Amino acid sequence: MTTSTHAFWLAGRRATGESTFDVTSPWDGRPVGTVSVPTDAQTEEAVAAAHAAVDTFAVTPAHVRAAALDHVARRIGERADEAARLISDENGKPMKWARGEVGRAVSVFRFASEEARRFNGGEAQRLDTDAGGTGRLALTRRFPKGAVLGIAPFNFPLNLCAHKVAPAIAAGVPIILKPAPATPLSALLIGELLAETDLPAGSWSVLTVPNDRMPSLVKDERLPVISFTGSDTVGYSIMDSVPRKHCTLELGGNGAAVVLGDYASDEDLDWAASRIAAFSNYQGGQSCVSVQRVIADAAVYDRLAEKVVAAVGAQVTGDPADEATDVGPLISEDAAKRVEEWTDEAVRAGARLLAGGKRDGASYAPTVLADVPEDTRLAREEVFGPVLTLHRVDGEEAAFAAVNASRYGLQAGVFTHDVQAAFRAHRALEVGGVIVGDVPSYRADQMPYGGAKMSGVGREGVRYAMDDYTYERVMVLTGL
Ligand code: NAD
Repeated sequence: MTTSTHAFWLAGRRATGESTFDVTSPWDGRPVGTVSVPTDAQTEEAVAAAHAAVDTFAVTPAHVRAAALDHVARRIGERADEAARLISDENGKPMKWARGEVGRAVSVFRFASEEARRFNGGEAQRLDTDAGGTGRLALTRRFPKGAVLGIAPFNFPLNLCAHKVAPAIAAGVPIILKPAPATPLSALLIGELLAETDLPAGSWSVLTVPNDRMPSLVKDERLPVISFTGSDTVGYSIMDSVPRKHCTLELGGNGAAVVLGDYASDEDLDWAASRIAAFSNYQGGQSCVSVQRVIADAAVYDRLAEKVVAAVGAQVTGDPADEATDVGPLISEDAAKRVEEWTDEAVRAGARLLAGGKRDGASYAPTVLADVPEDTRLAREEVFGPVLTLHRVDGEEAAFAAVNASRYGLQAGVFTHDVQAAFRAHRALEVGGVIVGDVPSYRADQMPYGGAKMSGVGREGVRYAMDDYTYERVMVLTGL
């Protein structure tokens, strides 16, 4: 593996600063790239350019913005293999999952190009339904709130950056993207492909700003919209520091998969167990919608538990570059040590370890526990590792109450064939999404996605992010 220095992207052009940082593979620590850091003056230049581009980008024709989005979608597709390797190298994600992420990023840019063509057609509303509105018509269109600061996490380094950038371009809103320090290379690839388009200078930047310099960027009044994906600690601290800004926060969770009593055939339980095993471990459990808690009706609990333990045991762990690997390392050894600490603490408190529970460097074995005491960190917090806990409940009401006992509420999965139970779940569960017949980890990139409670504020999903970056302005025509 050769190491190269990667430039960042300042107002649409390649730039380098005065210092660099290294990106290493979480699997074996080998150097993956060296990344240039923008100086304060360069960051200022990007912010000024984004601010200055707000009016011009809003009137850049939809066909130009849509063509740019189509171009990026096509180019990611053409460079899919290289993009997947980049994700796998910097993040430790197994190749099979990295390829899936690349495919999703292509879709996000494609959805955005379609939305760019539809967006802001305007909506007319007659006002003469009341006497005071006689002769009047209201016309509503959406306009930018201002330039966006998009802040992305490490766990889906390409697709979650796509979710920040593509809707901004589709809506004609300038954006500065700030990737996670552990995984900037995928974001810089998006920059490279955007630089091949005709988008106006200033409409986009990808800045590898270190965390300690983020507070001043966050507070800059020329960036009135912050779209943040990451941990609740950082997300809410950002929102608290800028109470007058528009903040979208896509945060964490301790996702639950509920298996109701009617989901009882061998075929049902095999499907549920295989999905639970795959999606408590994919991405090393470092997904905001990983399955962390399995809440099963007593009628199916024992059979399900046996199948889950077998399916988790069948997960192939190891080198992320190996096409057969299901579960690679966590993002760092420290992250794996924290998962180990929480799991050991739960076992000391009385939990039963049914599988896994071992750490090797940055890797943590796929792990299953039962009878986890409610007052442990493993039961309460987001573990963000390949660990799942099994909970036995009596009946649907108890199952839904167990889901809602969490302070998080991102998505929940409900395995049932009962349509009415599905509707009851949709009504009762305090989450942003209820996935019936599958795990909470399912996400389609065009659907509204986001959390309730501590899992966040606002929604992503291409069209929803476009609404978020813009606001409705009405024009009333008189004398018609
Ligand atoms: P993190 O909160 O540590 O970092 C997220 C981003 O914030 C990074 O780019 C980081 O550099 C930046 N950051 C750190 N300190 C900052 C500061 N003071 N000001 C501004 N930016 C700052 O999160 P992470 O470890 O990269 O990602 C994991 C978390 O992200 C998990 O909690 C996970 O659940 C969550 N997540 C949520 C979603 C979702 O859509 N809801 C998706 C993926 C990940």
